[in-house]
Amino acid sequence: MKVLIIPLCLLLLLPGCWTAGALQSVSQQTAAEQKVLVQKQASLEQEASEYWAEAAPTVENEPAEALYSPAEGFAVYPLSLELEERIAGNSWQENDFLALEDLHYLTLLHLDFEGSIRQGEMIVHHSLAREVADIFWELYQVGYPIHRVSLVEEFDCDDTASMEANNTSCFNMRLISGTQRPSNHSYGSAVDLNPLQNPYVTASAVRPSREYLERGDARPGMITEGDLCYEAFVSRGWSWGGYWPHPDYQHFEKSVESSSQNRGLK
Ligand SMILES: [Zn+2]
Repeated sequence: MKVLIIPLCLLLLLPGCWTAGALQSVSQQTAAEQKVLVQKQASLEQEASEYWAEAAPTVENEPAEALYSPAEGFAVYPLSLELEERIAGNSWQENDFLALEDLHYLTLLHLDFEGSIRQGEMIVHHSLAREVADIFWELYQVGYPIHRVSLVEEFDCDDTASMEANNTSCFNMRLISGTQRPSNHSYGSAVDLNPLQNPYVTASAVRPSREYLERGDARPGMITEGDLCYEAFVSRGWSWGGYWPHPDYQHFEKSVESSSQNRGLK
């Protein structure tokens, strides 16, 4: 993972906007704020282009040809053989509902909480991969801060460890907490974003931490109803776990048809 520090002058040109602005719904923005947002988007696009051109980051397991790319630094690929070998027996287990070829691999850029550009990677259900690429491109353009986006293999597929590292992730075959039912993460059709800022509130615990349990005090990286992150997902038909009786503020999901079942597999 390579990092480019955004020049200080760029941050000075963006007075408080990529934090406060990112938490504000589009409909609430004034014309002046929208102008700042447009300027910021242009600057960030330029930064991404320069980052890609100069740093030329390489992604482990990145195949040669992208299936889709909404912008430089954002691309969807089929799983390479190396990546299939890496996740088989780890985040992917032998099962009767999802084949390895149902998954796609996504590379993306994001800004961290210090305003530095970082490269992330994610495995997503093939039917959602393009729109997830679009969502993260959109979040990048508005400067939405995301701490880290890594495959759960880097945490031995342990959801608790991934959350404690404030890792944003998607695919991981696991059961819904306290049940025997596979979670939507098992299909690559759920995204957990900034777990520290958006905890999962169970009946007995707040995971990974209580630091952001108070939702009225909106701080950068927190998902709130109507903000730009919420809108990026919900406008594409995803539902938000923040509404659940036991709120899972980090969680967005969208149902997918099981293409394995469509192929007649059991
Ligand atoms: Zn989740």
